[in-house]
Amino acid sequence: MLLQNIVRIVALARLGESLRTCIELGFEFGPALYYPYKDTDFSIWDQKQNSVQPACRVEPSSTTEVVRIIEILTNNWCRFAIKGGGHSPQIDASNSVGGVTIDMIRINHVRVNKEQLTTHVGPGATLGKVYTHVEQHNLTFVGGRVADVGIAGFSLGGGISNLSPQYGMAVDNIFEYEVSTLNFT
Ligand SMILES: Cc1cc2nc3c(=O)[nH]c(=O)nc-3n(C[C@H](O)[C@H](O)[C@H](O)COP(=O)(O)OP(=O)(O)OC[C@H]3O[C@@H](n4cnc5c(N)ncnc54)[C@H](O)[C@@H]3O)c2cc1C
Repeated sequence: MLLQNIVRIVALARLGESLRTCIELGFEFGPALYYPYKDTDFSIWDQKQNSVQPACRVEPSSTTEVVRIIEILTNNWCRFAIKGGGHSPQIDASNSVGGVTIDMIRINHVRVNKEQLTTHVGPGATLGKVYTHVEQHNLTFVGGRVADVGIAGFSLGGGISNLSPQYGMAVDNIFEYEVSTLNFT
């Protein structure tokens, strides 16, 4: 009860800048922007996170769009959360309390590179999607045990695999991350 009240107070305090930001995002991202009252298809795995509401949720389709969203957010001093697979157990981790939730679900490609040693994976892909795709090439990877955990959160904040005794943590097997910055570097 106390926690719920604290979450409500935080959400109210953020309302002004969040609404302004959502309206601005709406102009540029139109159908990829969802307000909670219409966002009936969205749910997040962790129930604590599922119980809170962002001011709006946006689904970028490319790195360029992610950069633009971050630019709008920072211009408005707006709080945000980034959602990969949504398995984080902390409130506000990947579903923003009264801020903007950036949902990576549309950037979920999995492309095995030509030499079949590395794979390019979008931050909205789940471990299950990566397993399914690389298995078609007779490959596997240092992944976790549950299919709908996100590759982004897993490689950033998890990383323990059945293959770890031999190959280390997931992050030990990342060749590079694409990092979005405001000046495209
Ligand atoms: C059922 C279950 C099984 C699990 N099994 C394993 C396991 O076998 N091995 C293991 O090591 N761990 C395991 N975990 C832990 C899991 O790896 C972590 O909780 C992980 O952080 C979840 O990632 P996600 O993308 O699904 O979650 P999210 O909640 O979407 O993301 C987790 C964090 O990463 C941030 N984030 C997500 N995407 C991005 C991005 N593109 N850029 C910047 N930040 C980003 C989010 O903001 C959030 O703070 C498990 C968890 C659960 C609930």
